[in-house]
Amino acid sequence: MKAVLDHVGIAVQNLDEALAFYRDALGLEIEAPEEVASQGVRAHVVPAGPSALELLEATRPDSPIARFLARRGAGLHHITLRVDDIAAVLEHLRARGVRLIDAEPRPGAEGALVAFVHPSAAHGVLVELKQPARPAAELLPKRLPWGDLELISVHDGLFGLDGGAMFGVVPRALWKAPAPPDERNRILLAMRPLVVEAAWGRLIIDCGAGDKMDARQRDIYALDRRQHLDHALADVGLAAEAIDLVLATHLHWDHFGGATVRCDGALAPRFRGARYVIRAAEWYDATHTHDRNRASYLADNFLPLHDAGVVDFFEEDRTIRPGVRVVRTGGHTAHHQIVFIESDGKTAVFVADLIPTTAHIRDAWIMGYDLFPMETLAFKQRFIREAIDREYLIFFEHDPRVAAGYIREQAGRRYVEQVV
Ligand SMILES: [Zn+2]
Repeated sequence: MKAVLDHVGIAVQNLDEALAFYRDALGLEIEAPEEVASQGVRAHVVPAGPSALELLEATRPDSPIARFLARRGAGLHHITLRVDDIAAVLEHLRARGVRLIDAEPRPGAEGALVAFVHPSAAHGVLVELKQPARPAAELLPKRLPWGDLELISVHDGLFGLDGGAMFGVVPRALWKAPAPPDERNRILLAMRPLVVEAAWGRLIIDCGAGDKMDARQRDIYALDRRQHLDHALADVGLAAEAIDLVLATHLHWDHFGGATVRCDGALAPRFRGARYVIRAAEWYDATHTHDRNRASYLADNFLPLHDAGVVDFFEEDRTIRPGVRVVRTGGHTAHHQIVFIESDGKTAVFVADLIPTTAHIRDAWIMGYDLFPMETLAFKQRFIREAIDREYLIFFEHDPRVAAGYIREQAGRRYVEQVV
């Protein structure tokens, strides 16, 4: 267990006087303040080498920091230690009988997970443990040689969906540890299309949400595309024009919104010069919506492709290009499909919404969004068994941390060995 000093929190009675010392006298820089309305506190971070000071002022007379100031006066409020695996640290402390305020990690600022240790256990100091949010590197695109092919994991940024909807019948008490919800109950998700590069050209499987959502939709879905597919492609030396073929697992907005762009008020294919390969029955469903699936199928994402004459429809499971094969799973949508990528005796599978994140590797952890959950269950049970036995490399399209890994099983417990 390794803990690094992240910052020291100091409760201040009078910010101007505090700045006169920390900023003016010591010459430290002060960052723009961050307000946590729910806690009635405004924090001014003062970087000091690898750690920082955090000046805390109360914004409400009844806030915890105001009560602290009234009781103890200005001074040391807490120290924060950064750890890699907060759940493991808490378990370790619990086993040693250390008194904790938080038995389980909870969401902190900027996507971090935090938990407090009781001051009585830390000789009068309030200790905060913090596991920082995934470093940006986790969304970094990566090339992976795969026999005669090359697999390139890319991304279209992050978003959030209701945690309850993401785990169906699984109670929040069980999923909140692997997928901590934010204050609006959304869990962090990524959109990770996969590029397959081969002698025959370049194919992209799914293409993220794209940039056509309005401010209200972006807010509802916590859409964070500060780094998006164009950046990701550029990072691996590609541009949208380098894609020859776009393959859709299904036509939901978080998988296929990036298929079109608005330019000069009109909608056009985003990948100029590419053909779009779409299962005909999925297209039918996307263009004949009902009350249960209407919010997921947005016509602007696919109708303009048809108008531009760039869609190739197919009916049955088939090989799209040598080494790339689609298999219908049903379940999530009636014609949802996954993609097998095979070369040199090795199999990788892009599982889309069959197993959206690594938290979904348990058979019954199935999304409430699925139209036919029993179909998902049947396919998943069979598929995961096969994936473990035959060592398929699994690409998790929505996992915020793990792009790909092997599903392993030990003493009946499943886990993912991360590769990308
Ligand atoms: Zn999805």
